[in-house]
Order: sequence, then C-alpha cells, then structure tokens
Amino acid sequence: MIYRIPIRRWAAFMVGNVLALCLNCYYRPSLRAVIFIFSRGGVGMQMEGALRKMAITADEEGKAHYALRLDDSALPLNGAVGRTVRLVWTGAIRCVHCQRSTNKSFAQGHCYPCFKRLASCDTCIMSPERCHYAQGTCREPAWGEQHCMAPHLVYLANSSALKVGITKPSQLPTRWLDQGATQAVPILDVDSRLQSGWVEDTLRSEISDRTSWQAMLKGEAAELDMAALRTRVLAQFEPQLDALRARWGADAIRVRSDVPRRFHYPVQAYPAKVKSFNLDRQPIVEGQLMGLKGQYLILDNGVINLRKYAGYHVDFSVVS
Ligand SMILES: [Zn+2]
Repeated sequence: MIYRIPIRRWAAFMVGNVLALCLNCYYRPSLRAVIFIFSRGGVGMQMEGALRKMAITADEEGKAHYALRLDDSALPLNGAVGRTVRLVWTGAIRCVHCQRSTNKSFAQGHCYPCFKRLASCDTCIMSPERCHYAQGTCREPAWGEQHCMAPHLVYLANSSALKVGITKPSQLPTRWLDQGATQAVPILDVDSRLQSGWVEDTLRSEISDRTSWQAMLKGEAAELDMAALRTRVLAQFEPQLDALRARWGADAIRVRSDVPRRFHYPVQAYPAKVKSFNLDRQPIVEGQLMGLKGQYLILDNGVINLRKYAGYHVDFSVVS
C-alpha cells in the first residue's frame, strides 16, 4: 500500500506528460506539418501564418534545400515538388518588423511607419555607394555601425548571366541562393558597405548588377568559367581599384582566392513562358509545384516570388 500510491502517481504523471507532449506537437504547426509529411508523404499537409522569405541552404554538393517559413514555423519544401499546392492569402498583412497590421506592404513586408523609419528600408540599402553614415545622417546609427560599417565582399555570380554583387560574409551562400545563382565566387574583401558600393559601381560599367528573373526561371544559365572571369575582371579593373586603394589605403581592397561554388535547384521542369502571380489581385494560387529557384515557387500555371509577399498571412497546403 505504501508503494502503490507513488507508483500510481508516477504512472499518472507519465501518461499526462505523454499526452501533453502529443497535444503540444499537434498544436504547433511546424511539428504538426512534420508529422503529416512523415505519415502521408506531405499530402494533406496544411500550415498558416505570415510569410517570411524561404530559408534556403546548400549541402556539400551545392544542392539547394528549401523550407517554407510562416511566422516561426519552417516546413521542408523539396519533397512537395511534383505535388499540387495551394496558397491562399487571407487578406491580412502584418509588418515583418513591428507586427502591426497594415493595408499595404512596403519594402518586402514593412508597414509605412517602419518603411520611413528603419535604416534597413533606406534607399542606400539598394544603392550602397550612397551610404550616408559618414555624414551623420544614418536613420539608425547603431544599426549602421553593426551592418554597414563592417566587412563586406564583392562577388561575381551567374544567375541569368554574369552579375556583380555585394554582401556581408555572413550572408553567403544565402544571398546567392536567394538570387537563384547557379555559380558564384567572391572576388574582393573591403571594410564597409560604402566601399563595397564604390567597387560595385566601378565594375558595373562592364558587368550588370541585376538578375533577369524571367531568364533565371526559364532554365539554367549557360555555364561560365568563374575563376577565369575573376582573373579577367581583376586585371581589367586594376587601375580603378588602385585609384580606390590610393584613397582608402593600400590594404583597403583585398583580392580573394576562393574556389567557385556551384548550386543545383530542385526543378522538375522550367516554364516556356513565365507568368507571374500577384496575390493582391488573385489571392488564391493553386497548381502543380514544378520547382523551387531563388525565392520563387515555380508552378505549372505561373510563378510566385514569396519574398515579395513577406508579412502576408496565408494558408498553405499540399493538396494532392
Ligand atoms: Zn512596422
């Protein structure tokens, strides 16, 4: 009798905990989605929440692995390629920064006050050569110090064709995967965002800084010899780079010698014509998921750039 009570209590405690764990799993969308994936091959899976840009990682062979992100949940998406998916916008948009409800999205998911206030939404983010931190006019100097007055690199990538770009070392290879690049190589290290912007601006006289997203979604870009291009570009622009070194210091622009990277995207078939879905005009998007490239879902009846709809509250399901 003395021992039975503790055993009963222990048993009740264990049953309660197992039940609590199961219910916890069931009511957490990410875990519920994973349970569905394992039990039903992804079919019937459903998730809802505010869209974030997809999480993309690359394994050692360069194969891109996608996860759909809704609020704090992440759903592995490569397994859904080939299946019919449905994305329904509920009509609500929440600011990705302050979570406030907003009728319109600015700069990929911000409410208007955040768009006007945040340094990350300033025009110099798109044009780093216009960084105005040194003039004392940065919207958020502490943010600028952390994100802009820090080492940056200049890279060459092949997304739709050869392009030049800049980023922070910590953003690689995410930056390349977000752009749907199939090849990429860093070429130069510099000490700030402004410097990277000046170097990029110099190279832009010969090399585009844009990706043609229609071309990127129509197929694989023709393969380039990235190491040879790096050598050619550095030789071609040596006088201009030396002029910048004379201004900033001999060590300000440093040549890198990384092995070029190559990336492969989970795409079963590319569309012959690229038709883009617009959730603002058509809140229900449904079709067979043919592939994932950059921040795009490629469906058999159109493509959608999920990054553009960050903050949109959606219901996502794998229908069949
Ligand atoms: Zn906001």
